[in-house]
Parts: sequence; C-alpha cells; structure tokens
Amino acid sequence: MSTFLENTQKIVEDTVKIIPDLPNSDVLSRLKKPDRILEFEIEFQGDDGTVKKFPAWRVQWNNTLGPYKGGVRFHQDSSKDEVMALALLMTIKNAVVGLPYGGAKGAVRVDPRSLSQRELKLLSREYVRKIFEYIGPDKDVPAPDVGTSPEIMDWMVDEYSILAGHWEPAAFTGKSVEKGGSRGRDIATGFGGFIILREFLKFRNSKLEIRNSPPKVAIQGFGNVGANFAKIVHQNGLKIVALSDSKGAIYNPDGLDVEELLKIQKERGVLNNTKCSLEEAAGGKCKTISNEELLELGVDILVPAALENQITENNAGTIRANVVLELANGPTTEEADRILERRGIEVIPDILANSGGVAGSYFEWLQSKEQKWWDEETVLKKIEEVMNGAFVDVKKTKEELNLSWRKAAYVMATKRVAEAMKKAA
Ligand code: GLU
Repeated sequence: MSTFLENTQKIVEDTVKIIPDLPNSDVLSRLKKPDRILEFEIEFQGDDGTVKKFPAWRVQWNNTLGPYKGGVRFHQDSSKDEVMALALLMTIKNAVVGLPYGGAKGAVRVDPRSLSQRELKLLSREYVRKIFEYIGPDKDVPAPDVGTSPEIMDWMVDEYSILAGHWEPAAFTGKSVEKGGSRGRDIATGFGGFIILREFLKFRNSKLEIRNSPPKVAIQGFGNVGANFAKIVHQNGLKIVALSDSKGAIYNPDGLDVEELLKIQKERGVLNNTKCSLEEAAGGKCKTISNEELLELGVDILVPAALENQITENNAGTIRANVVLELANGPTTEEADRILERRGIEVIPDILANSGGVAGSYFEWLQSKEQKWWDEETVLKKIEEVMNGAFVDVKKTKEELNLSWRKAAYVMATKRVAEAMKKAA
C-alpha cells in the first residue's frame, strides 16, 4: 500500500497529464516537492519536573497563490510524511476554493490529552518560538487542525505578538472570538461541508438513487468538524444514524438524538477529551458498533470526519453508501478511490468538502488585518458564497472533461497554480 504522501503526489502527477493546454509545464516540478521543511523538537519541563520532548514540523509546500496557509495538528501518530501530504493537500484545497493562499501544514507528535493545561500551553508557545521567523500574516498563517483548538491558537498568537513586539492577530486564524477570532469560524468546516452536500443533492436530485427519505447519514468522528456537521445536517432534516469517536461507534437505524449528544458533549466535555466516550453519552440507548462497521453501513451518505487512510483497498469493496463526503483530510486512499469509482460510489473530495474551514479562516484573516468584526450571519453568508462558487467551478470541470469530483477539483486547482506561475514567469 502506498503512503498518504505518495498517494497525494501521484494524484497531482496524474492530474498534470490530463490537463488540456497546461499553462505552465514547470508546475509539476514545483508542486511535486515542498518549498521548505522545518523539522525540530519541542522541549519543556513537564509537571513532574522531567524534561519532555516531542518531534515537530512545519512544512511550507507552495506559495504561488499567496502566503502559506494551513493548520497545526497535535496527534500521537503525526509524522513528517503526514505533514507533507497535508501541506500539499492545503495547496490544492486553497486553489480549488480560489483563496489567495498557498499551502502549508504543521504538527507535533504528541497526544494532547496526555498533557496538563500548563504543559499544553508551554508546548504551543514553544512551537511558535521555533517557527517564528518563518511565519506571519503575509508569510505563513497557521490555524487549528486535529487536536488543536481556539485556546491553543490564542496562546500561539499571544506568543507571536510578544516576539514581534506588537499585537499581530492576522498571524493565526481559528482564534477565540474574545482574542480577535471570527464569529462562525468554529463551525465553518461543518457548515461548508453541509453547503457542498446540499448543492450536490440538488444537482443529483433525479439522477442519484437515494434509498431513504430523508437521507440517512453516518459520520466517523465527532470532534469539531464531525459534531458541527452533525448538528447542521440534523437541523436541516437529514437523519444521522451512526456516529463515532476514537473509542467506538453508536448506531440507531431510526436516527440518533444528535441534540442530546451535543448537549452532553458540551456539559461533560465528551469526545474532545477523555472524560466520557460517545457510547457512555448515548447511555445505552443505541447499538454499539465498531468504527469499521460504521464505514460499511447501508446509509445514503458516509462522512469520514476523523483521520486519513480510513477507506482503503481492504474495505472499499464493502462500502454500501451511495456517496462519500470527505470532511477529514485524505480519508480515502488512491487505490480505494479507484474501487469506489468503479462501483459507482460518488466521492466528494476533502479539498472541496472540507474547505469551509480555510474559507472561514480567510474571512477571519481579513477581519484581523483590517481590525474589523462581522456578525456570524455575515461570515456564514460569505463562506456559503465561496462554497457555492467552488462547487459550481468543480462541477463545470467535471462535466466538461467527464471526470470524477476529485480529479476535476485537482485539474482546476493545478490549472490555477500553473496560470499564476505563468503570470509571474
Ligand atoms: N486545518 C484546516 C484544514 O485542513 C483549516 C486550515 C486553515 O484554516 O488554515 O483545512
């Protein structure tokens, strides 16, 4: 099985081959490798007095379209290769959505749940000290990702501002509203995913055979993205029948009480930390299944909203959903993607489906730069416009060239980067 990075690089290579009249033939050599890899170790004194050390990275892949942009992940399985793949995905994603950004990603290989608040703060601040000279509002703008939160972004922007000698809110996005963040940014990824799903269902309307009315949805992951998506989709009348966290999944064919689960999540800190699992939160009211079983349920829409490499060549043959909406980054391997395509299962790719997050970041960045604030309705309306525009663009390319959604999105993005390279040549 090829790696996440190899998969992503291969898609770019294959894409370049199918673009008619490629504006700049150098685009592949530029997109094949990162502009810069920062690799370092974060060290601080733990609560028990011992020195704690964690490997960390920031990968700046490409800045043809604007400053590098992308999240920072705190996860026990992060690696340099993973961060590279994610940085390349960010480059493509920002181009698909038409944002004036290049792509980057960062990570620390750490389980954030194993740290105290004090340790988490030290880790976050030290991360900024290590990359300070390479980031900034017009250089590289980090944001939250898996395992990071507005609170962590607040520490990071604070540290950055101390080092810069002045308040610099546009250096990070995903901050809390109190610390200069944007209203609507917290739900932006889930909200954007819903807009894409809504447009997709409208477009497919008569052509797609949705088995159930309302459509049944299974979501893998109940962190920021999965939970907000579940809430919005539920409010819009779709039926969530399965949800999972890292400990396991719950299933109720008649629909889960999403509001109740969200309430418990808020009250008890369920799922985002270790206090209580989804299974405990459901209180035995539904069947418990494994994460693998969730992926294979006979639902209309399957939403991987956790980590990469979840749908692989080993389970792609057993997926029974009609549509896969990728809210995680890289949840489907290249081999699995081909199997799903052959089986007529439509995959709405991460670089389109989860781009609401970075679109929200863009509007936060603008507000931070101009010292403005907009209400939530205004921000969500702007994100909706971006998502609608991206959907129409990808659909057009898909229909013109008769491609899958993923290939169409890659073609569009690669062309945009190539055109910008040509202008600057
Ligand atoms: N981490 C998110 C992503 O993968 C958001 C990135 C950003 O806002 O810069 O798209």
